[in-house]
Amino acid sequence: MLALVTGAAKGIGRAVTLQLARDGFDVAINYAHSEDAAKSLRDEVIALGVKAEIFRADVSFQEEAAKMFADVKSSFGENVSVLVNNAGITRDTLLMRMKAEDWLAVINTNLNAAFYCTQLAVKDMAKSRYGRIISISSVVGLVGNAGQCNYSASKAGIIGFTKSVAREYAGRGITANAIAPGFIDTGMTGILKPEVKDGILKSIPVGRIGDPEEVARAVSFFASEKSAYITGQTLAVDGGMTMV
Ligand code: NAP
Repeated sequence: MLALVTGAAKGIGRAVTLQLARDGFDVAINYAHSEDAAKSLRDEVIALGVKAEIFRADVSFQEEAAKMFADVKSSFGENVSVLVNNAGITRDTLLMRMKAEDWLAVINTNLNAAFYCTQLAVKDMAKSRYGRIISISSVVGLVGNAGQCNYSASKAGIIGFTKSVAREYAGRGITANAIAPGFIDTGMTGILKPEVKDGILKSIPVGRIGDPEEVARAVSFFASEKSAYITGQTLAVDGGMTMV
């Protein structure tokens, strides 16, 4: 079976790609800018004994997402059975300082891209009456965060979107679930100042930052047969940060 991971070259997407390959999936690796990282990930995945190919697309543009799906189909000769909507960015600042372009960039990348890719994937999944849609939300989509009104809105949007897709397609063998990571050690969090990191650490009951692999293992579960009776859910992978 074929899995497509958006924003796969780095961070959580990279860990998800490797985990799905270890699970036996062939993997379509999407990237926007990180071509070298995508190529070396492709080589790592192939060494695990499954097929892999890289696809450049800025998934915040519908036409690029559509071209990517067409290219994936012709390259692998099969449809995507597992879609992981992972691509994401931040443009953090307080509401009063936020420019419309910061708002739109984050909504376009984190939420609109999930709409474009899910619509394209579900078209084929509905025909084969099987599919797994897994979207990476965030704990801030559940509880909010000062300085991240754009990002929180995009991640809360993913949760509502997931529930609606789950209801629409439950009868066709397609599940849609979201994962809400807390504070995970990637480039996205690497840019935070040490004092900000210390503050966040105090709010994590488990007492440490999460690894991308810990998010990947939750994706692996939602991508598998084991989760067939679970849909429309949001699973926090956050060391106990939220507990909502
Ligand atoms: P990251 O290391 O910065 O990676 C982000 C990835 O998204 C990159 O591979 C990037 O690809 C890709 N991307 C960005 N814009 C894209 C676009 N328009 N089209 C295609 N790909 C695009 O961040 P990360 O922490 O792994 O984040 C992965 C996901 O987890 C995001 O949705 C993020 O919001 C979510 N998340 C992260 C944390 C955390 O603590 N790290 C917590 C909660 C949720 P290129 O480099 O090729 O542009």
